Amino acid sequence: MARYSDASCRLCRREGQKLFLKGDRCYTEKCAMVARAYPPGMHGQGRSKTSEYGSQLREKQKAKRYYGLLESQFRSYFEMAERRSGQTGENLLSILETRLDNVVYRLGFAMSRAEARQLVTHGHFTVNGKKVNIPSFLVKPGMIVSLRERSRDIEKIKGNIEANAFRQPPKWLEYDANNLIAKVVALPARDDIDLPIEEHLIVELYSK
Ligand code: SF4
Repeated sequence: MARYSDASCRLCRREGQKLFLKGDRCYTEKCAMVARAYPPGMHGQGRSKTSEYGSQLREKQKAKRYYGLLESQFRSYFEMAERRSGQTGENLLSILETRLDNVVYRLGFAMSRAEARQLVTHGHFTVNGKKVNIPSFLVKPGMIVSLRERSRDIEKIKGNIEANAFRQPPKWLEYDANNLIAKVVALPARDDIDLPIEEHLIVELYSK
């Protein structure tokens, strides 16, 4: 699958905020947003005004980058969100949150969504007892996500679980930390999603 492969930190600098794309590094002084919190490129420090279209575009790019998606994937999630009842912007974020790679990240099995995607692809997780290695798999209420027995001794995953033990999983995921199992108890509501995204700007952009 095609994937955006430019330096992750440039994406944060472009959006003007931390997107937490590199795991551990994002929480240290080495984070590029600490030393160079301005857009990349030779005119990076000179830009100031943003048009209405520019704001909408930046918001969409930011959301795409948080979840590590390409334009075509993001657009198809938007179309899916439009078909659901309720507010399209909130639906969009709710759908993105239910991707299996995001669930794995939210549960603390990975330090970033990119790492979560890799862990899913390598077949370390089950949904309802069956191995699922598709990061874009959308979980639904009632489903059970679990770290496979055979993957529980992998040092990297064990380290991630330990490092993320302080993180509280969102309330739409009922997590049993002793058994490394989570039940999806609801679809995520907007209040459950802690990302600073103004989703109405994305809706405005795609409605043009
Ligand atoms: Fe973004 Fe993480 Fe790089 Fe900081 S270290 S700029 S949060 S990807």
